[in-house]
Amino acid sequence: MDGKVIGEKPVNEEELLAQGYRKYSGKDVDIYYSAAICAHVGNCVRGQAEVFQVGRKPWIIPDNASADTNIQVINTCPTGALKYIVKKGKS
Ligand code: SF4
Repeated sequence: MDGKVIGEKPVNEEELLAQGYRKYSGKDVDIYYSAAICAHVGNCVRGQAEVFQVGRKPWIIPDNASADTNIQVINTCPTGALKYIVKKGKS
């Protein structure tokens, strides 16, 4: 599922936080995660275990991979539980 949109609209932080997503800040990209939406399919963990590691705190560390890798993995999330926003000037 495309991690830069909700429905048809580009994601924005205000809306993500209002919808219950939690923010995990990175240098180039911020990752947002909704535990309520996650179906624990595990595509994220299998896709990039350094970034997505269940049981670690925080369980998402965006800077453990490149922004491009993060975006690729986030887009494999089937539920929309993962979203991202690329920081200004980093796209
Ligand atoms: S890929 Fe998406 S639905 Fe699956 S475990 Fe990760 S966040 Fe949850």
